[in-house]
Amino acid sequence: MTEITCKLAVIGAGPGGYVCAIRAGQLGVDTVIVESGKLGGSCLNVGCVPSKAIIHVAEEFEKLADAVAGKTPFGLTAARPALDFKQAVAWKDGIVHRLNNGVAALLRKAKVKIVQGHAHFRDGKTIVVETETGPKTIKAETVVIATGSAPIELPSLPFGGAIISSTAALALPEVPKSMVVVGGGYIGLELGTAFAKLGSKVSIVEAQERILPLYDIELTAPVARRLTALGVKVLTGARALGLTAQGGGLRVETADGQEHGLPADKILVTVGRAPVTAGLGLEQLVLDMDGPFIRIGQRCETSMRGIYAIGDVTGEPMLAHRAMAQGEMVSEIVAGLPRAWDKRAVPAICFTDPEIVSVGLSPEQCRQAGINIKTGQFPFAANGRAMTRHGETGFVRVVAKAEDQRVLGIQAVGLGISELSAAFSLAIEMGSVLQDIAGTIHAHPTLGEAMQEASLKALGHAIHI
Ligand code: FAD
Ligand code: NAD
Repeated sequence: MTEITCKLAVIGAGPGGYVCAIRAGQLGVDTVIVESGKLGGSCLNVGCVPSKAIIHVAEEFEKLADAVAGKTPFGLTAARPALDFKQAVAWKDGIVHRLNNGVAALLRKAKVKIVQGHAHFRDGKTIVVETETGPKTIKAETVVIATGSAPIELPSLPFGGAIISSTAALALPEVPKSMVVVGGGYIGLELGTAFAKLGSKVSIVEAQERILPLYDIELTAPVARRLTALGVKVLTGARALGLTAQGGGLRVETADGQEHGLPADKILVTVGRAPVTAGLGLEQLVLDMDGPFIRIGQRCETSMRGIYAIGDVTGEPMLAHRAMAQGEMVSEIVAGLPRAWDKRAVPAICFTDPEIVSVGLSPEQCRQAGINIKTGQFPFAANGRAMTRHGETGFVRVVAKAEDQRVLGIQAVGLGISELSAAFSLAIEMGSVLQDIAGTIHAHPTLGEAMQEASLKALGHAIHI
């Protein structure tokens, strides 16, 4: 058995693990990263990147379909649109492939050793990797667990055949005629919307009283309206029971206790993701857990000295940029730099139609925390750029502390507003007060002006409303 000795071993090369390894390498830390699948993890291979590619295809297709139907108010018409879905999936795979190579190149540039295979702990300092050429032992001073998450399966709807996870949905050979999505959260709504635009007859079955229950209703209402306009049937307070007796559909108990059958060529189950810890040999360690997740402190340290955990394996929010930020921090700690988690906010975006962005605290969270706030909300209906993009739905809302105008949260819903999240995050991370945003010249005509106007409104003197 070959043996490698290093200062840092990272298990899992998703956004958490590969960022951790690259930064450690940059800092001169002798680093090994172990990956059992493809570099880039869920995010790059079966998550953020491929889903956004398919969402883009769906948006483009819908624009054409609207033109054909004469639905655009600006006179655009077109002949019958056609989509070669296999080519769309191949295009998506090409992007993923380029990024896989990019991650490999960045790791090599940082002098990180990549070991391909499944890793498990023998003890707190020793990892055994089952590689194609046999087992390899890695002895490391510090180990970072970055093994990520995987889709949760429902006992009544095990994956296979017509019942698919997001991974399979992103690799379908054709657009299904009908699809039932079980779980109206992030993945269900992003992919459900995309497939509806691509021509599937989509139904969404959500157990809670409303879709995207983690966002407030003001933010989700425009998304719910758009789903209806797209012909998506949304059943809330509903339970998926299992396949219909003849197959080809899903049995659902709706909020009124009635049982219904929903026809479905594919049933996409998106009811959350579970941490990947099976087969990792955690039983060899004494790690405190938070339910199924690995418990971490402010420096992503676990309960065992020399073992850190980052990303989805540590629980919500399961977001790629959080995993990356944790990875970067841990590598600097390993290199001896004084670091701890000092972020004011982790931005969250739902790439629905319209998109939702939330950074920092919502008004409700402030109320629950007993913080006295003032808010300013500016609608895109009064924003010139939004009008010229035919996207007047939605708004930007700024939440500030009443006493000192400190911005605590910014939320928005609107067409293409995911890119505004950078400005929202920067404002909060820099500790801005309302006057900072209001006093910054925002280029005209841009959607960003809505952020300035929302701040002005909170100060009591919005100009354009
Ligand atoms: P992962 O990306 O899950 O990576 C973990 C890696 O560890 C995997 O490559 C796995 O093969 C490897 N591994 C596991 N066990 C072992 C082992 N024992 N030995 C060796 N290797 C191992 N987040 C966003 O921020 N924005 C989005 O738009 C977004 N969209 C998403 C869309 C979908 C469809 C999905 C499924 C997820 C999406 N996410 C999004 C979530 C995002 O993908 C995750 O938060 C992110 O990938 C977590 O990174 P990670 O490094 O913790 O784990
Ligand atoms: P989620 O937690 O966002 O949504 C799951 C939904 O399923 C919830 O609304 C829940 O109420 C519902 N649900 C649970 N059990 C159910 C049942 N038996 N029947 C019907 N509904 C049920 O989970 P997800 O959509 O699977 O996404 C997993 C994680 O991936 C998210 O937590 C998120 O952090 C991450 N993600 C992020 C993005 C993004 O940042 N844009 C996109 C996709 C995924």
